[in-house]
Amino acid sequence: MTEAFDAAIIGAGIVGAACADEFARRGMRVVVVDREFAGSGATAAGMGHIVVMDDSEAQFALTRYSQQLWQSLRAELPDEVEYESCGTIWVAADEEEMAEVRRKHEYYGARGVPTEILDSRRLKQLEPKLRDGMAGGLLVPEDAVLYPPCAAQFLIERAQSRGAKLRIGVSVSNIGEESVRLSDGSEFAAKIIVNAGGADAALLSPGIEIMKRKGHLVITDRYPGFLGHQLVELGYLKSAHTVSSDSVAFNVQPRRTGQILIGSSRQYGAEHGEVDHGILTRMLERAREYMPGLGRMSALRTWTGFRAATPGKLPLIGPWPADQSVFLATGHEGLGITTSLATARILADQIEGVQPEIPIEPYLPARTAKEHAHA
Ligand SMILES: Cc1cc2nc3c(=O)[nH]c(=O)nc-3n(C[C@H](O)[C@H](O)[C@H](O)COP(=O)(O)OP(=O)(O)OC[C@H]3O[C@@H](n4cnc5c(N)ncnc54)[C@H](O)[C@@H]3O)c2cc1C
Repeated sequence: MTEAFDAAIIGAGIVGAACADEFARRGMRVVVVDREFAGSGATAAGMGHIVVMDDSEAQFALTRYSQQLWQSLRAELPDEVEYESCGTIWVAADEEEMAEVRRKHEYYGARGVPTEILDSRRLKQLEPKLRDGMAGGLLVPEDAVLYPPCAAQFLIERAQSRGAKLRIGVSVSNIGEESVRLSDGSEFAAKIIVNAGGADAALLSPGIEIMKRKGHLVITDRYPGFLGHQLVELGYLKSAHTVSSDSVAFNVQPRRTGQILIGSSRQYGAEHGEVDHGILTRMLERAREYMPGLGRMSALRTWTGFRAATPGKLPLIGPWPADQSVFLATGHEGLGITTSLATARILADQIEGVQPEIPIEPYLPARTAKEHAHA
């Protein structure tokens, strides 16, 4: 007899893991399948910055909701998740970027997110290793950092403790009509199938518009005390919004170990996971322009990963119109660690017919049809 579940989740990245945990908490019989292991994929490659963002109202709502869910989970997170409320400082290099600091301060303030405008002196006091002459910055103290693969592992283990089954090391070859077929030829039934396959989600649900957006990161040796906050240049926003060209931006993170995680780059059309030395050099030079001392550090490892980008710059969370049993939870681009918990909540709410805490329309996969109509 075919095994049957209430929900099958394809992908045990941070998004699939969060869905498994949330669904199991609500009493569903859940199975999670991953061709590798929990927290591999983009989750292993990500920076783990839990950050509230304001590119759009919908992005703000999802990032803030999820950030608060992480905050409330904090006491339960094991040590190895390395959750630290270090805060973000958006660094303004010049007066033009200070105008953006003031805009952000107002936007966040109007929506209940505490921030503090830093002048040049105060910025230097907080982060003395930044080069002289920066105009100032914006401190967002409730932003945090964590170690994504361990966070995914924690969520999967909690789901398992609530009865979820985990199948790793086997690929899913086909989903639809309440059925999941695996590459070993076996098959099982699930009333709901969640495609949380990250950048490869479109292979299982053809028609989803996901573009792979490659990123590079570097981790240094241990330099305790060098840096106190996640530092991001305000020019990052220009880089994150570029759609046509490769871009780099200064984005550094203090790890609990004293190591420094240096990012980040964005590339479309780079399908291979190899390190691209050209863009890596640009990224490190940018980091050195902001913090010259980084140039004297030893790097231990460099790696790449693929963000799952959508044309509408928002994730796809909800029913996939092409098949009644399939739901999508993908397309989180550079914010999937941050928004994983909120994704799981609003997806479970939709499935159970419960009113979600934030408006969900902007994330519904049905919107892609509208995006086509307006393209
Ligand atoms: C360089 C970089 C830096 C980033 N920094 C941040 C950050 O600071 N903050 C933040 O919030 N986000 C960040 N992100 C984004 C974040 O890492 C991703 O949005 C997030 O990890 C996506 O999680 P996911 O579960 O959707 O996908 P993934 O982690 O990729 O998981 C998908 C899983 O599905 C499995 N899978 C796919 N297809 C199949 C199949 N057919 N059968 C079986 N299994 C399958 C894969 O093996 C994989 O484990 C960053 C990303 C990159 C690349």
